[in-house]
Amino acid sequence: MEPPCFAAVLGSLLEVFGNTHLGRPRVIITIDGPAGTGKSTVAFMLAQRLDLEFLDTGAMYRALTLLVIERGVAPTDATAVSAIAEETDLRFDFGISPPPILVDGRDVGDRIRLDDVTACVSLVAAHPAVREAMVRAQQEIGRAHPRLVTEGRDQGTVVFPDAELKVYLDARPEIRARRRALQLRSKRMPSDEASILRAIIERDRLDSTRATGRMARASDAVLVDTSDLDTDAVVERLVGIARDRLESVLGVASGDGD
Ligand code: C5P
Repeated sequence: MEPPCFAAVLGSLLEVFGNTHLGRPRVIITIDGPAGTGKSTVAFMLAQRLDLEFLDTGAMYRALTLLVIERGVAPTDATAVSAIAEETDLRFDFGISPPPILVDGRDVGDRIRLDDVTACVSLVAAHPAVREAMVRAQQEIGRAHPRLVTEGRDQGTVVFPDAELKVYLDARPEIRARRRALQLRSKRMPSDEASILRAIIERDRLDSTRATGRMARASDAVLVDTSDLDTDAVVERLVGIARDRLESVLGVASGDGD
């Protein structure tokens, strides 16, 4: 009998250990949904409760949009925007919680949350080549950090279709606009609720109608409407669902002691 070749042995070792991280099983939880549902806050709090890492994929599209603005490129210019996406090194500093995004090594902080970025991020995110680069980068992050809560628009449908748990958060548009206005007021920033509502509806429209990676609920995602729930209640509900469904892979951190 021929000895097994190196590739075959490596292949079976990867099969056995590829789904574990430092001896712990992979747990990817995806949280998708439109703007203003509280996704980022909920995803970060859930990650902390379950002792998982946290990935904010919107920050990647926002960081790229910041570069597009800084370089004076039109967000609709597919060739120029795609070139920036290909050549830019986007990574997170996972040594910090929540991990800040670094754009070619530069920490861009909250600059990516300002209105000029928010206003055109959906145009930048619509280019198929941009999405390809981002999906690739996110899947690489998932391999390096396989115990992860990741949030965005396409995490359960495109990036991690085999995630251990998928969640889709939604809320009525007026509620989402009010939350955003309150958030801005608390930062003493301009907050006209009617124009925020218009902007949210337009961003949802662009995000859910683009050619690739459109915002959608995966058929196997749990739907949670956050319209009448506060953040703590949403997190409690998700912790409960995760503990029920993922008891065997979450490990000791999922116990009631936290
Ligand atoms: O979640 P956040 O508001 O930061 O996302 C900003 C924008 O980035 C979204 O409106 C969407 O256009 C884009 N995005 C995306 N796919 C993701 C995450 C964000 O297209 N996975």
